[in-house]
Amino acid sequence: MRDLGAVLDRLKDFENPSEGLEQYRTPGDLAALMLWDAHLRGDIDGAVVVDLGCGTGVLAYGSLLLGASAAVCLDVDWEALTIARENIGALRGLTDLVAGDVKALPLRSIGSCLVVMNPPFGVKKRGADILFLRSALRICDKVYSLHKYSPGGVELVMRVAGEEGFAPLLVAEASMTIKQRLKHHRRRVYRFKVVLFRFVRTVQVEEPRDEQGSTRGSSSR
Ligand code: SAH
Repeated sequence: MRDLGAVLDRLKDFENPSEGLEQYRTPGDLAALMLWDAHLRGDIDGAVVVDLGCGTGVLAYGSLLLGASAAVCLDVDWEALTIARENIGALRGLTDLVAGDVKALPLRSIGSCLVVMNPPFGVKKRGADILFLRSALRICDKVYSLHKYSPGGVELVMRVAGEEGFAPLLVAEASMTIKQRLKHHRRRVYRFKVVLFRFVRTVQVEEPRDEQGSTRGSSSR
């Protein structure tokens, strides 16, 4: 895979992006930064990857290209999922598209899977980034996530990771550029700093038991 970023940039983009849902697709270079890092650490090969807030499926697509065995793509927006299906359709590997809200996830803990995500930055809906982060940390034992940089934001992300039993690693700082789409935006491009995190579970949590006495989603633990 010579230039993963360029391949990802050629995928189909959102047609009617929603501002409220912060639908900005991850630029290819940033997606490649995340996915190569995960690949080099051995997190992707053969893994089941969960792309939370998948949008057009850029991160799931790249993961499958780098050797993930399956991808679960979840988004609250059906139109985005339709584009993700078009993008990922031709690839080998099992892909499940799930329409759902991270506030009330249809997914239980799967344990040894990998979340790759570029969640809403919480600019339109305060706290959306942290909601995504907590949800991700409750599904898989490893998580890659991009966050908009602010000193307080990094501190909060680190704290939440600790509360959920994860060790956070700040993998990289980078700049992200997005094109403004609405008339009220004065600048045509907006550039800001983002941080890429990798989280690995260090503390196992006791799974709630169902009536039959078996633990939920514990087969892969
Ligand atoms: N991960 C994609 C898209 C990032 S944009 C990429 O890397 O290109 C953020 C995505 O989160 C959007 O597709 C949006 O529809 C989705 N989203 C926003 N709020 C959500 C929620 N509450 N539950 C699930 N998905 C949500």
